[in-house]
Amino acid sequence: MDKQSVQLVVIGSGPAGYTAAIYAARAGLCPVLYQGPQPGGQLTLTGEVENYPGYRAGVQGPNMMEDLQAQAERFGTIIQEGSIATVDFSIYPRLLTTDRGETLRARSVVIATGASAKWLGLPSEKKLYGKGVSACAVCDGFFFKNETVVVVGGGDSAAEEALYLSKLCKKVYLLVRKDTMRASRIMQERLLQKSNIQLCFHTEVQEIIGEETVEAVQVIHTLSQTVSILAATGCFIAIGHVPNSKLFLPYLSVDSEGYIQVQLGTTHTNVAGVFAAGDVQDRYYRQAVTAAGTGCMAALDAERFLQANEW
Ligand code: NDP
Repeated sequence: MDKQSVQLVVIGSGPAGYTAAIYAARAGLCPVLYQGPQPGGQLTLTGEVENYPGYRAGVQGPNMMEDLQAQAERFGTIIQEGSIATVDFSIYPRLLTTDRGETLRARSVVIATGASAKWLGLPSEKKLYGKGVSACAVCDGFFFKNETVVVVGGGDSAAEEALYLSKLCKKVYLLVRKDTMRASRIMQERLLQKSNIQLCFHTEVQEIIGEETVEAVQVIHTLSQTVSILAATGCFIAIGHVPNSKLFLPYLSVDSEGYIQVQLGTTHTNVAGVFAAGDVQDRYYRQAVTAAGTGCMAALDAERFLQANEW
C-alpha cells in the first residue's frame, strides 16, 4: 500500500469509526479503516449494552462491534489491522504512516480514535497492573471469583464494573471520592440493591499494597482523615477516560483535556478534509449512540468535502 492515495481513511474501530465507514462505503468512497490497538474499541471491554437503540433485549458489546464491522465490510470497507503511527497534515493528500512503516495518502481522514482509561497515577498501580490492578472487570473479573475487590470511581463505568463484579465476588468496595456519584440514577439504584457492594463515599486510594499481587488497598476517608486498609485481591480503576488525540496534536486544535475541537454542529477540525468523530472529540456525551451519530456526520462531511474539492 505504498504511496497509494485513497479517498478516505478512517482511524479507529469503535462505533464512530465503523459508522463513518458504513456511510462512506455506501457513498462509494471505498474507505480504508485502521482498527487501532484495540479493534472494536471500548465496547469490546464491556458487558451488556442496554441502551443502544434497536436492541430491545440488549446486546453484548463485543457482539455489537462484530456486527458493525461486518456491516462496514459488507459495503466494501477495507479493514486493516494495526494502527496509524504518524500523520502529516501539512501536505495534501494527507500522509499517514502505519505502525508497520507503510505509508498512504488520503484525500480525507476521519479520526475516530476514541478514548482510553484514566489511571490514578500511583507507582503501586503501575507495578501491580495485570497482577490484581485492572481497568476491565469483564476481562479480568473471572480471576477474582469469591474474593474481595475494590472498584474506584463514581460514574456509570464504576457502577457497571461494581455490578458485574458483585455477581462473581464475595464483596465489592466501591470507592467514591465525593459524597455523591455521577452514575445515572438507575445504576445507583441497582448498586443499592446488591448486599455485597459496600459504597464508601469521601474515600480515596492512597496506596495499592502487595509485592507480587494485590493484597490490600490503603484508603483515606477525606472528611475524618482516617486511614484504613481494605483487604482485597483486586483493584479495578474506573475513573473516566482521556481522548486518544496525541498523534494529531501538532496539527489539530484541542481543548484543555485534549479533546479535538470541531466546528459547532459539524465534524470539521481546523484542518481541511480532516474530521473527528466519537469520544476523541466528545467530552460530554460519550455514548455509543452519539459516537455512531458523529461517525455518520463525519462520513457525510467527508463526502461533501471531496465533492467540493477536486484537488
Ligand atoms: P465519568 O467521567 O462519568 O466518571 C468518572 C468518575 O471517576 C467520577 O465519579 C469521578 O469523580 C471519578 N474520578 C475521576 N478521577 C478520579 C480520581 N483520581 N480518583 C478517584 N475518582 C476519580 O466516567 P465514566 O467512565 O464513568 O463514564 C463516561 C461516560 O460513559 C458517561 O457519560 C457515562 O454515562 C457513560 N457510560 C455509560 C454506561 C451505561 O450507560 N451502561 C456505562 C459506562 C459509561 P468526580 O465525580 O468526583 O469527578
